[in-house]
Amino acid sequence: MYNNEIDSFLERHNYVALEPRAALIDMDGTLYDSMPNHAEAWMKMVSEIGISACREEFFMYEGRTGASTINLLFNREFGRDATEAEIKELYHRKTVYFNELPPVEPMPGAAELLRFLEQVGMKRVLVTGSGQSSLISRLEHDFPGAFTEDMMVTGRDVTHGKPAPDPFLMAMKKAGVSPAQSIVIENAPLGVEAGDAAGAFTIGVTTGPIPGAALKNAGAAIVFDDMRTLADQMPFMLYALSTQPRNLN
Ligand code: MG
Repeated sequence: MYNNEIDSFLERHNYVALEPRAALIDMDGTLYDSMPNHAEAWMKMVSEIGISACREEFFMYEGRTGASTINLLFNREFGRDATEAEIKELYHRKTVYFNELPPVEPMPGAAELLRFLEQVGMKRVLVTGSGQSSLISRLEHDFPGAFTEDMMVTGRDVTHGKPAPDPFLMAMKKAGVSPAQSIVIENAPLGVEAGDAAGAFTIGVTTGPIPGAALKNAGAAIVFDDMRTLADQMPFMLYALSTQPRNLN
């Protein structure tokens, strides 16, 4: 099971074998069904400052830091970067609108997946482009014990966010693992791109309007339809990953 996907990943990255010891896990759209609210909050904020946008584009920007998304919109609409003060004020405004929306729910299957990873001794690191404390502070309540404070990389920790590999490289450092010892779990094309660029076996999960093909094109080694399916399949996936390379057995 999964041997074709694993083989093509090993070949593409020039790895001889993988030894999964840490899972680097995205938050929005992966652990929480939060993307519809993020898109709505972005739309409300940008429409107030005269930037025209469509809701779907915010699903494509997912993974970027707030500053990076604001600069992208500013350059398109006004032909310049936003100032530090504008970024601070606009990201704050977007955060306020996000917090006014009904609370988001944990993604079905996410808790089960985290528990399984714990049972088999995998380290777990949260890797999010978000700097919003409303969700980050809920993690301990919704997924008790899953992420200790030293096992989190947030939008505040890195200068170059996803799609740069930096957040995942920092997560590997925190977990004390190499790229070949890491798996990444991501729902967004930019996050998948970052995970693959960091050299990790990157699992894409289609939890929103972005089709699986877009995650595959971004470098996902394999794509699952939802977190529940991934949770169910993870034991088999991990076994297959741990028993490579078969040709040396
Ligand atoms: Mg995400």
